[in-house]
Amino acid sequence: MLTSDQRVSECNEFIGYALHQFPGQCERGLAKSITRCKRCIASPLFARIEDGLCELCRAGDSAVSAAGQAAADEDERAELHGILQAACGRGPADYDALVMFSGGKDSTYLVHKLRADYPTLRILALTIDSGFASSVAMQHVSTVSASLDGVDSMVMRPHRDLFYRAFRHALTHPKPGSCYLTIDLLDGELTFDIGRNLAASMSIPLFLAGTSPAQLRLLHKLDWFERPRDIMLARRTHTTGGYAVTELSKEDALHYWWDGTRWPAERVPRNILPYHAWGYDEQFIKSEVVRLGYIEEGFDNPLITNNTLIPLMVCIDITRLGYCGFEPEFALLIRDGKADRTLWRNLFDAAAHLAEKGQFLPKCVDDVLAQLDLSRDQLGIPHPRAPGFE
Ligand SMILES: [Zn+2]
Repeated sequence: MLTSDQRVSECNEFIGYALHQFPGQCERGLAKSITRCKRCIASPLFARIEDGLCELCRAGDSAVSAAGQAAADEDERAELHGILQAACGRGPADYDALVMFSGGKDSTYLVHKLRADYPTLRILALTIDSGFASSVAMQHVSTVSASLDGVDSMVMRPHRDLFYRAFRHALTHPKPGSCYLTIDLLDGELTFDIGRNLAASMSIPLFLAGTSPAQLRLLHKLDWFERPRDIMLARRTHTTGGYAVTELSKEDALHYWWDGTRWPAERVPRNILPYHAWGYDEQFIKSEVVRLGYIEEGFDNPLITNNTLIPLMVCIDITRLGYCGFEPEFALLIRDGKADRTLWRNLFDAAAHLAEKGQFLPKCVDDVLAQLDLSRDQLGIPHPRAPGFE
């Protein structure tokens, strides 16, 4: 297994290469950058581009005018504030809110802001260690939990087979669409379902998560801060990416998936996604978690603060689809002015350039493959042609 330091250093070398050497290599004709939409970074592989602009940018994507949007945001913020305010100290048992806490920047800032704005909200920060969380993420979890005064936290580690079996099945039985929309989403859904079940079993009335509005729109077709109640009251039979839960889990593990019919309705938590109402600014959140001393500068990249399958999923998507499945989400953030265009364009272009040669984070990729008892050949991704970035 790679140590945290090895993982961080391989990721930082890649980021350094993408931002500093790769643009020069493109100028000298040694690498090629993809011709992308000049406003966001949509590539012609997933969006139609005309006169330099993608179809989404041409359509003005967000249909609401800036003024209308601001008014709607105001009402939405007020409604969420009412719910959180009313929940303070009111849960029937020991906690008012269970907050999903991955150790990444979004959930760290979410817990911080809830603590600051609602000091009497009794929060349980829950981390699920799937066995595939990066050691960097797990270190953050313990450092940040220790520094969040007044918040109880808990790490739950389901038995090893649960995520191992689900990931292995999904990777070897690909569904249409990117890994991001199938496997990464499955990971998030199983993780959140475990949290939802825990909230219900502990009679915690609110279940909160740091999902960004872009993720809500792209993945869940949700344009509001609360997951619809009818979904919360129902049983999950499939993941959003199309896997039946019965193909991912053995009979005796099906209870980890959410089943709203298992609980009396009053025990089913409200599922709240505060960033939709608060607004989400990736740069602002990054700088705040660094400024507040939760996360060290340079340790805030999702490549290292997220689960260890991310580099593998990037390789698979680039091999199968020609682009990385995370690109549409970042294109949306950039279009909304919430993420840096040059930074992400260079990272995605450099990732594509290296992945085609098997040289995108090879140590991280081989490490997680070994953990899953899978090989590059089984998944159809190239072996590294040469060490380094040439
Ligand atoms: Zn565009």
